[in-house]
Amino acid sequence: MKDKTTICNLCGAVHFNVVEDSEKPFYVLKCIRCGLVFVDPVPEPSFLEAHYDADYYADWMGPQQEKRLRMWRKRLDTIEKRSPKGRLLDVGCATGTFLQLAQKNGWEVEGTELSPYAVSFAKNLLNANIFCGHLMDAGYEEASFDVVTFWHVLEHLSDPMRYLQEAHRILKPSGLLVIAAPNVNDYIMKISYRIVKRRPLKLFFRTDREIHLFHFSADTLRLYLNKTGFRCTGIFPDNGITEPSKRVVHAVGVALYHVTGLRFFNALEVHAIRV
Ligand SMILES: [Zn+2]
Repeated sequence: MKDKTTICNLCGAVHFNVVEDSEKPFYVLKCIRCGLVFVDPVPEPSFLEAHYDADYYADWMGPQQEKRLRMWRKRLDTIEKRSPKGRLLDVGCATGTFLQLAQKNGWEVEGTELSPYAVSFAKNLLNANIFCGHLMDAGYEEASFDVVTFWHVLEHLSDPMRYLQEAHRILKPSGLLVIAAPNVNDYIMKISYRIVKRRPLKLFFRTDREIHLFHFSADTLRLYLNKTGFRCTGIFPDNGITEPSKRVVHAVGVALYHVTGLRFFNALEVHAIRV
């Protein structure tokens, strides 16, 4: 057990178990009270910013582009079944592919993004305001959006609570919030990785391509929503995985979910209504 001055972003507790300590001085901790898993301390902003350069987006816009376009169409379909068309904000919009699709389908779109590279790309692609910086600094009007989306973004942020509070402020009453994030309880993936690679799948690897600061479960995401004024309406498998090996593992997890209700698949898609 590790006692630190660190405070849990979700419940405010200060006692944690160490999940990983192989990348010191960084630890992966699990809150004893609420179960939130996160990296501590948060790496320097300069380290994180350098991570989201042109290389980070290269695969998405190259070999994966067609598959990713199909994925975005499905995601937009899901939203259009649950919300009338109106103003949509994509938080962490990356290079703007989803917003472009939504705009073509008649949505009034805006985006925020931390990567200056991605912002300039999205601005060239879209006739829309893309704010470069944190959501809280964009100064959007209260209750001004019908839909706010976080597509695999929350796990990259250093303060998810603050972001969700701001999403609540800027959404209209009964507005739709959609979050997709990796599932920390991706046990099918963990087992498969261990069998194939003969070592455990780490949550935090400084040299890895993806730096995730938070690792959510269905339970911790639901708690976040309760604490920030949302009513969770569903937690489903997120089918936005494009890598073939991960797709197979995810499909096994999804099949298990349909039979048993256990959420052991790779990624979660959460829908919530602003109360
Ligand atoms: Zn906690």
